Amino acid sequence: MIDHPISYGHQLITEEDIAAVVEALKSDYMTQGPRIVEFEKTFADYLGCSYACMVSNGTAALHLCALALGIKPGDKVITTPITFVASANGFRYLGAEIVFCDIDPKTFLLDLDKLEEILKASPKGTYKAVVPVDFAGYPIDEERLRALSREYGFAIVVDACHAPGAWFTDSKGRRCKVGACDYADLTCFSFHPVKHIATGEGGAVTTNNPELYKRVSLYRTHGVTKDPALLTRNEGGWYYEMQELGYNYRITEMQAALGMTQLKRLDWSVARRNEIARRYDAAFEGSEVVSPYRADDIYHAFHLYMIRVPEEKRKGLYDFLRARNIFSQVLYIPAHLMPYYRQFGWKEGDFPVAEDYYKHCLALPMFPSLTDEEQEWVIESVKAFFEK
Ligand SMILES: *Cc1c(COP(=O)(O)O)cnc(C)c1O
Repeated sequence: MIDHPISYGHQLITEEDIAAVVEALKSDYMTQGPRIVEFEKTFADYLGCSYACMVSNGTAALHLCALALGIKPGDKVITTPITFVASANGFRYLGAEIVFCDIDPKTFLLDLDKLEEILKASPKGTYKAVVPVDFAGYPIDEERLRALSREYGFAIVVDACHAPGAWFTDSKGRRCKVGACDYADLTCFSFHPVKHIATGEGGAVTTNNPELYKRVSLYRTHGVTKDPALLTRNEGGWYYEMQELGYNYRITEMQAALGMTQLKRLDWSVARRNEIARRYDAAFEGSEVVSPYRADDIYHAFHLYMIRVPEEKRKGLYDFLRARNIFSQVLYIPAHLMPYYRQFGWKEGDFPVAEDYYKHCLALPMFPSLTDEEQEWVIESVKAFFEK
């Protein structure tokens, strides 16, 4: 028996992380310094993309993508209801009309067949962007999305807040890392404490498109530039121009220092998450607990380990675990059923697969520092509930 609380996700902070932050604090820069530049370069190199822009959080990353794409009021943007609301909100900030699309019953990601039906039903160019979410750490088939994008003309912004370190295999047999943007226009990450890289608050946008990168960077820092190549005139060394109505979406040097040391552990951390997943899989085989599906040709980042249980038992299991100090979580309440999104006419019954998923799902503790004893306690407790 374990008596301390165990949550569904938790950050891991080492002495190396602490030392890196202390060093940043002792340096000349708290923001806009060399650690951010180094973190951007290292992250881009790790993923294999041309550009990474570090920002203040994952929601800012999504908003910046919408800004960079020039999203305007009334532009139609498609996303999944099974996500954190920020995936849609980043585009709503600019007045986009959010069009939800149901999920695949196996992966719980945006259903690309249903997406194609939606796209087919309207003239080309009707939808400005599609925002798939690598839910729980399962990478979406970006190659198929790109084929749809060529046919119907929309930008691909992957919300990969759950999936740094994951990859999918394309038709040429290549392992494509999430964030490498082999097929996506832009990819967003979050460095919130429950995510793989934890900097408190923080996020990133990655891309291979120099124009989009320029716009993301410009909007991150007030729309202000000092780049001689971009200035309309130059009045001297002090001169800068505000060219767009931008924001202050910067990250700090302390966060970048922490991000660097966390990034070094990312591969280990995703491998450890996969190990934890395999133990859960084995423990629940043949029981009422359904483990998450994954194809052989993808690498899952396991931000979350989502089980499904009979609908009438889900709340009981949640409460039973909670009484044992195990904080499981239900993720996500479908976004289209949020009071805010209901005002646009979305309602129960619109997305049967997503709504059914919501009634059955539960996230069990999944984080790299979860000990074998803690996991054993979680497994024992889940089994104890069903044997009751
Ligand atoms: C965490 C998360 C975000 C937002 O990230 P923040 O850093 O918390 O702003 C966006 N989308 C998804 C899917 C997330 O999990």
